[in-house]
Amino acid sequence: MRRLVAAPALLATLALAALLTAGCGKEGSPPVKGPQAEKLPVYQVDTGFRLPGSPTWRAAERRRHLVVGVKEDQPYLGEKDPATGGYSGFDIEIARMMSASLGFAPKTIAFRTIASANRETALQNGQIDYYVGTYTINDLRKKQVGFAGPYYIAGQSLLVRTDEKDIHGPQDLAGKRVCSAAGSTPLQRIQREYPKAIAVAYDTYSICVDNLISLQVDAVTTDDTILMGYAAKAPDVLKVVGKPFSKEPYGIGVPRGDTALRLALDDALAAHEKNGDWKKAYDATLGLSGVPAPPPPAIDRYPAS
Ligand code: GLU
Repeated sequence: MRRLVAAPALLATLALAALLTAGCGKEGSPPVKGPQAEKLPVYQVDTGFRLPGSPTWRAAERRRHLVVGVKEDQPYLGEKDPATGGYSGFDIEIARMMSASLGFAPKTIAFRTIASANRETALQNGQIDYYVGTYTINDLRKKQVGFAGPYYIAGQSLLVRTDEKDIHGPQDLAGKRVCSAAGSTPLQRIQREYPKAIAVAYDTYSICVDNLISLQVDAVTTDDTILMGYAAKAPDVLKVVGKPFSKEPYGIGVPRGDTALRLALDDALAAHEKNGDWKKAYDATLGLSGVPAPPPPAIDRYPAS
């Protein structure tokens, strides 16, 4: 694999922005959609909530707000508005629901953008209280962090340019340059199961997308949720191909030893799924990229080890 160190992120963002702007003015192209703020649920803050058994919660209580790790460049999931600095998307709504259940008003959350490769360290060194950002639960990661959930199940897929004729699935990747994020499960799967593909790793998927548009790579691979968001924002230029070829159950990452927090978040997820918040949040965010809300997956309250 070739590990390319962060390309000039600003250039990448500008190129994508220019492309998106060019795309939306064209006749017949759909307007760029964003989360529908007026349809987002308001989460009831559990003001009497206490979790003295959780060191993470106690620290948050002392500082009077939560610090939550997220993504900032994944449409409909975790997006930061460069003008206002505000975050939006399905993962952001999950983070807000959890905050309300832990007794903190969602508007007080301090969001921190953390790339895929840095999630475990951020949780281990106390930089964030929990993490919500397309974070696949797996046994290897469970040795380093804890996971509440899952709250959604995605699947690995491929994003190509609309004029691409040869790539229909991972079996067509031999000799092709395929970009993914460092530290992600899709990158690992491509390296392990499709060794003839030329894997290229950057810190974020938006840099990969920029490289796809500028013909530096032939495909971007990660979860279908993320790729459909990019395709929905630039349908003239990008398309998702083939069927998902993995299962990526999304969890809320917590510090590994903090079982009290993990189980409290499991309870909170169950409550917000039951009262309709989860579905409303999905419909107003990720649902906009084209897939109707599935039933939420069963929560896995695994024992402490
Ligand atoms: N869900 C995958 C993972 O956790 C890919 C998306 C991401 O990098 O956040 O590695």
